[in-house]
Amino acid sequence: MTKQRAAVLEVVSRKGCHYSAEEIFEEAKKILPEISRATVYNNLHALERDRVIRRITAEDSSDRYDSSYVPHGHLYCTVCGDIKDFDIPNFHSSLSEIADTEIDSYELKVRYICKKCK
Ligand SMILES: [Zn+2]
Ligand SMILES: [Zn+2]
Repeated sequence: MTKQRAAVLEVVSRKGCHYSAEEIFEEAKKILPEISRATVYNNLHALERDRVIRRITAEDSSDRYDSSYVPHGHLYCTVCGDIKDFDIPNFHSSLSEIADTEIDSYELKVRYICKKCK
């Protein structure tokens, strides 16, 4: 892995963070000041293609990146765009039961207005 890719991955992997590509670029610059925007974007695409990170599409703001490939839900604030992870116990197994077979993955986005924005 190149040091550029490692820096991008380090930023995306921060616990509880769902950065946009632009935010990842800003944070990666703090680790590698010479890193370019194109390099960050190329590495994000490569990491997504290799299923190391996941891209979350947010229709009214820029896409975010998530380091966790384990299926989980997202609470999405429609005002500030903040994204929080959540996990419902037994949700995955309940889905498998309904489908009557093993579920590969799911995407669950809940829209709300966070406490800060209320
Ligand atoms: Zn908010
Ligand atoms: Zn997440």
